[in-house]
Amino acid sequence: MPVTPAIALPVSMERTRPLPIRWTEDIEHLDGATRGELQIPRCTSCGREFWPAGPVCPFDFSADVDWVTDSGDGVVNSWVRVHRPYFDGDDVPYVVVQVELTSGPRLTTSWTGTDTPIIGEPVSVSFREVGPGVWLPEFGSLQA
Ligand SMILES: [Zn+2]
Repeated sequence: MPVTPAIALPVSMERTRPLPIRWTEDIEHLDGATRGELQIPRCTSCGREFWPAGPVCPFDFSADVDWVTDSGDGVVNSWVRVHRPYFDGDDVPYVVVQVELTSGPRLTTSWTGTDTPIIGEPVSVSFREVGPGVWLPEFGSLQA
């Protein structure tokens, strides 16, 4: 017996890559990227930087959070090569890396290099315009 869906499926299953949503917690980070700065939240109580951004520090739950301009230096902590397009128009394969900043936080981000990342290799931040006036940080090898 055929199963009839309870709701109508959309005619188009087009999935275009969305631009970042400007959540309250991320505005400083996104505006910093537009200026070419890596803005990361830092707890003024314990002094630690953290990611993802949020209203309280994940280490001591203090709500005294400020933003600092991070150097963007770090190392590759993990990476994956994506072979299947997630959004229409994705240019595959591409590499997603998790970078551990020298200051501590880990960011999951785009890889700028054409080479294969190496766990522990030093990286630095750069910025790419992903939409009109919308910039995001991305990372690549220092040797690039
Ligand atoms: Zn803290």
